[in-house]
Amino acid sequence: MSVTGRFAPSPSGPLHFGSLVAALASYCQARSQQGRWILRIEDVDTPRVVSGASEQILRDLEAFGFAWDGPVLYQSDQFERYRFYLEKLLTEGKAFACECSRRSLREQGVRSGPLGQIYPGNCRRKNLPPAGHSVRLNTESATSIAFDDQVYGRFEMNLPATVGDFVLRRVDNIYAYHLAVVVDDELQGIDEVVRGADLLENTCLHLFLQQKLEFSSPRYL
Ligand code: GLU
Repeated sequence: MSVTGRFAPSPSGPLHFGSLVAALASYCQARSQQGRWILRIEDVDTPRVVSGASEQILRDLEAFGFAWDGPVLYQSDQFERYRFYLEKLLTEGKAFACECSRRSLREQGVRSGPLGQIYPGNCRRKNLPPAGHSVRLNTESATSIAFDDQVYGRFEMNLPATVGDFVLRRVDNIYAYHLAVVVDDELQGIDEVVRGADLLENTCLHLFLQQKLEFSSPRYL
């Protein structure tokens, strides 16, 4: 078996039609290459998890005839691995603690981009302790992040100008989806990510984070 693909729904509600399309596309893409197809429940943002939604998603997928390989991975069981890689980024000076709130940034008049406020780097050199603060990835060096999407073609983004230093762990100690998805795709050996087009911009964040963690990058569609 050459390729491993995955479907990674967030249990913030029942499986909706867009998720079903992503499930079907990722399934066909993996199986048409005689590959493995695994399921990951992205419940890292525990306050947003709707009770019973994971179980319902699994039942719905089964009802549609999907069969996945191996056990289902729950992000809520993986906090130790996210902590490990976050520490690594902090130790290597690639991430930093930040005391800015969304409100203080708004009051400063920071601009917004496609993914929200563009963080201007205020706390990069303050050396704040991570405990009690959010942790952000330093994107200073990410002026051109590009990839070849198998449907959309070349997609390129200047991260400092469009997104800024993005959050890896929130002040309430919740790990960000960006960190969790990059770590899990690496540790689960995912070769090809098939996902909704709403995640095109996010993919550039993931590519940059993979570089910083010295992970290889999967193909994207
Ligand atoms: N969990 C994300 C969602 O349901 C998808 C993640 C991904 O494909 O990377 O929107």
